[in-house]
This record gives sequence, C-alpha cells and structure tokens, in this order.
Amino acid sequence: MSAEALACELSDVGRVTIRLRPTAINLLVGDAEPSYSFDLLGRLIGAYVGGLNYRRSLDNRVLSKMSGPDGTRQRRWLSPDEATRFLTAAYALAARAASAIGDPRLAVLQAWDSAALAADARRFATIYRPVSILPPDQYLALVLQATEGCSYNRCTFCDFYRDRPFRIKSADELRGHIAAVRAFFGPAIALRRSLFLADANALVAPMARLRAWLDVIDAEGLSQASGPPAGGIYSFIDAFDVHRKSLADWQELAGRGLRRVYIGMESGDDALLRFLRKPGTAGDVIEAVRLIKQAGIAASVIIMTGIGGDRSAAAHESGTIAALKAMPLAAGDIVYFSPFIDPPGSEYGTLAAAAGIRPLTPAEMAAQEARIRAALQTERDAGDAAPPQYARYDIREFVY
Ligand code: SF4
Repeated sequence: MSAEALACELSDVGRVTIRLRPTAINLLVGDAEPSYSFDLLGRLIGAYVGGLNYRRSLDNRVLSKMSGPDGTRQRRWLSPDEATRFLTAAYALAARAASAIGDPRLAVLQAWDSAALAADARRFATIYRPVSILPPDQYLALVLQATEGCSYNRCTFCDFYRDRPFRIKSADELRGHIAAVRAFFGPAIALRRSLFLADANALVAPMARLRAWLDVIDAEGLSQASGPPAGGIYSFIDAFDVHRKSLADWQELAGRGLRRVYIGMESGDDALLRFLRKPGTAGDVIEAVRLIKQAGIAASVIIMTGIGGDRSAAAHESGTIAALKAMPLAAGDIVYFSPFIDPPGSEYGTLAAAAGIRPLTPAEMAAQEARIRAALQTERDAGDAAPPQYARYDIREFVY
C-alpha cells in the first residue's frame, strides 16, 4: 500500500513524520514513539505513547492496553478527564506538525479539539445504537444496524442488548441509516474493510427483507462489487436460527456477498447450555455450521472459556472438543476462545453462586483454552491439511 511521507522538525520533540496512506494518516515522532493513527477525516483511532497502546472509539472513549511482564494483558478505559487530556495533547502535536509542514491535506488534523470530538460522539449516537460487540476480525468493519438488539435476548450471561428490544428495520430505514453512516464517515470509510450487519441476529430477517436490504446496499455502492468496503458481508447468527433458511437461501446470500457468519456456541456441553439458557444444543451448532459451509459461507464458532466454572469444566472441555471436531471447519473459518467475563449483576452470576459454582481464574481459563486447542491440534497433525484459524476473543479489547 503506497504512502507519502511528509516531515518537519519541532523544537521540543524533534523530527515528526506524517505518512499519508490511502486509508489512514500516521504521525510518528522520531523513530518509534509516540505514534498516532488517524482516519482520513482526522479522527484519532489509535496511538502508541509511553509504552502503552491506545484505541479511541467513535463514541470518544479511550482504552489503554499493555502487556504485563508475565505476558498477561492489562487494559483500562481512561476517565473522561484523562481521555480529554490525552486527546488534547495528541491533537495539539498533530496540529503543530500539520502547520509546520504546511500541506493542505493535513488540515483534517487541525479540525479537532475536545469540543469537536464530543460533538462528533453525540452525532455518532444519533446514527447508531451502541455497537455492543463485534468479532475481533471485524473491528474495522463498517457496521450497519439492519436490526437492533437480539431476537432472543435471554441468555443468562449476556447483557449486550438488554437495553433495546429486537427490531428489524425496513429497507427504507436501512437506506436512511446508510445515508447517515456515509455522511458520518465521509472519506474515512476507506478504513473500513468489510460490512458487518448488526446487531446480534440480523440474518434472522426473512429472505424477502434480506434481499431488499442487499438491494439497498448494492444501490448505495457498499457491496463488494460496486465499491468500498470491498471485503464482503459478515454477521452474527445463532445456531437455532440458521435452519430457518434453506440451503438455497444461504447459497443466495453467499452469492450476494455474505462471507462469514459468527455463531456463539459457547460450549459443546448441552447441560451447560441449558444452565446458560442458551437455546439449542451443540448438535444444532454442528448442523448449522455444516449447512452454512455447504452454501459456501465461512463459519466462525465462539467458545466461552471458563463458563460454568469448576462444576462444568470437564464436561465443557470434552463436549466442546467433540463438537468442534464434528464440524467441517477449514481454512477461512475461525474458532474463537472468549474468556468468560461475568457482567455485573448477571442472572448467570446469581445462579452460579446459588449452585456453589466457583468461577475459573484467568489462568484456569487460559489452561482450558490450551487443552481444547491441543486436542484440536492433534487432529490437525493427523492430516487436516487446511485447518481453521484459532484465536482469542477478549470482549474487553473491543472498540468501535
Ligand atoms: S448470547 Fe447471543 S443469543 Fe444469547 S442473549 Fe446474547 S446476543 Fe442474544
């Protein structure tokens, strides 16, 4: 990817290099840090300062992340005051460098201050319901909230969509949403690599509605064929909803750009799924993955390590290994391991405490993930030529 480098000397910090890339603007002081990344509208998206990584969300919060000496990740959302100070310092530096370089294309770095960022966050909130979660490979997707909420919304451990009723938007509503999204991102849409149909269960919409949405997406120039983002369409779906559509339906959706669906299996242990009030069984997930794959769509299966605590650990592990082995997962598919984070006041927490279930420690969750991975690895060594990707999915790292 081509980049044009512009540079200046600032008396207090020394050499500052700004790289204009097709999808972002990077600012680097000296050879290594601090460094900042902005989208093409000049919104700060990430930084590396003082040995810490920072990510800024479109609702104007800042997450700092670092790896501890033992390899564990530490992360913290900055307080509003800390975030304001951090952002003010970043934009003061960027504005001075842009002024010293004098290239008009850098004016976007001079257009922001804390008031403008706060106003931008308020505008974001008028376009989107909170974007509660995305899979890690979709953090740079362009999110379209074709639905709001979760069509089920009763799993005891999940609070992502408790703040909103499930609602399927009409094609006209989606068109209006896309117009607002396009206006909000402007040229910064170049950073977005794919389309994510949100919220939790957008693909549960009837085929007629899905076709109408996809027609709108095509007409608005957002499909893979007609313009950025070119990476295809992605979405969550629950296994119990997959069979509401036929193989022919899924094949049609694949032909319209649906590339991968993400299924929260959580566990391969049916008794644990019942305890979580997750509808369906591990067998349903296996069948759902088979159908999706048969249609030419990649699958991602999400496992929650630590869920069910000490009481379910053995059955959770063995059931999950058996279920994953029964799925025709291959290159292009992703198995995610998501360490269970119990949301404050969750029904799961109450039920688990009443049942005397001890939560697993972070180290025990990591060990559980390692054992599941090792069991799958054994299979891979035995001749699975094109394995799926295995990756960590830590919901605390999510920033949109
Ligand atoms: S885990 Fe999935 S199906 Fe269950 S409530 Fe949350 S979003 Fe809905």
